[in-house]
Amino acid sequence: PIPVITIDGPTASGKGTVAHRVALQLRFHYLDSGALYRLTALSALRHKVSLTDEHALSKLAEKLQCRFEGDQIWLSQENVTAAIRAEEVGNTASRIAVLPMLRHALVGLQHSFRTAPGLVADGRDMGTVIFPSASLKVFLTASVEARAGRRYKQLIDKGIPANMDDLLKDLRERDARDSSRAVAPLKPAEGAHILDTSELTADQAVDQVLKWYAA
Ligand code: C5P
Repeated sequence: PIPVITIDGPTASGKGTVAHRVALQLRFHYLDSGALYRLTALSALRHKVSLTDEHALSKLAEKLQCRFEGDQIWLSQENVTAAIRAEEVGNTASRIAVLPMLRHALVGLQHSFRTAPGLVADGRDMGTVIFPSASLKVFLTASVEARAGRRYKQLIDKGIPANMDDLLKDLRERDARDSSRAVAPLKPAEGAHILDTSELTADQAVDQVLKWYAA
């Protein structure tokens, strides 16, 4: 079978950076599953689909015309790489991610990323639901303060004004929503290695994951 490494964890735990670098090192494909929820959210906002209309939202997810090219993401003919990172889109993604039909509609698309020579998949339920038979499962965590600090730095570096209290509040709300939902709640998969990155650099976290994979 084609090897899969799953990297799950809460918002801003660094899993995107770590998963991406592990994929580069191993020359594996990379799946940013959060982007699929963000693409569905953006599409819903654009088409003014009600965020409680589970049926319509699932249809959007099922028909998602998206393309991943290197680090660029396309929705139909539009480059939405920056647009899907907006706070509003992230919040909307997290709200619609509680809907079982919508999650179900995205399963096939996620599985299609598993192609030779291998895949690194990052998200919330990669190890628990989407790729339960993965060769290696990692659960990345970091304290809410460390995560808010990283998010703060990212925003300031991009010239976007940020407020630490707002970021802490937003992260806590999103954590609560992601871990308390009925379907695919955020939790370590069975057999997952837990990695707390509060005191680690991204490179140190990548090295640890590669060591586990080689072991
Ligand atoms: O990781 P990212 O912030 O891009 O994900 C956006 C939202 O999509 C998350 O807040 C989460 O609610 C949802 N998500 C999910 N399952 C995944 C990936 C993301 O529910 N595998």
